[in-house]
Amino acid sequence: MKIKIIEKSDSKMRFTLEDSSPAFANALRRIMMNEIPVLAIENVDIEENSSGLFDEMLAHRLGLIPLTFPEKFNSKEECKCDGRGCSMCEVTLVLDKTGPCTVLASDMKSTNDDVRSFDGNIPIAELLDGQKIRLEATANLGRGTQHMKWQSSVVGYRYMANVRIHPDRDGDVESYTIDVCPKNVFEKKESGIKVARPENCNLCMRCVEVAKDNAAVVSPDESSFIFKVESVSSLPACDILEKAIEQIETRAEEFISGFKKAAR
Ligand SMILES: [Zn+2]
Repeated sequence: MKIKIIEKSDSKMRFTLEDSSPAFANALRRIMMNEIPVLAIENVDIEENSSGLFDEMLAHRLGLIPLTFPEKFNSKEECKCDGRGCSMCEVTLVLDKTGPCTVLASDMKSTNDDVRSFDGNIPIAELLDGQKIRLEATANLGRGTQHMKWQSSVVGYRYMANVRIHPDRDGDVESYTIDVCPKNVFEKKESGIKVARPENCNLCMRCVEVAKDNAAVVSPDESSFIFKVESVSSLPACDILEKAIEQIETRAEEFISGFKKAAR
């Protein structure tokens, strides 16, 4: 199995996965999206809300705000406090604002310095003169499988393409293939044409349609994939991939040790 990173920034990354299978690619996609723990607001205790938003709507909006969190932080189920809630698995955030103003995510004050809204400019509510929001919220780690507010990223993949050009079948193929390809896959060389960027091909088959005598051949490679990862949490896209691979490793180890015990 080979991984090649095509591009990466903090929130996005594109990479290729070669010598693999659709089953593994899909497992990786699902784990990256829904099995990486991230922090989100779970309970909201509203003391006062005279804004235009219903309490439920306000709580829902708060839950969707991505929060930063320390590396060493436990999920409530795995914490030593047995789910009662302690500083290692739970964070309290307080919001107290009076209008006229726009209440922003950065207005939430946290009891843990490492926990704050990932983007302070996210608007929560618009308050008119005299309107108030006063509430206390608790945030825990969770997974996308429980609720989409804990989804760490959006991940998609597609097959890589096998692209081949045969000038011996159609002498003109080199002259028009570059122009018809909307994804800039081909490049002109002195000796003819080169398939320079096969990872750009989205299997549109435009070159196959215009070529005579099957001079352009494009087929999906079912063992190679192009992944696109976009983080929707405070974790960088690269960390999400790393954590997903660690999870696959842990699960495989658990399976092996369970199997060995059962086989004894
Ligand atoms: Zn705890």
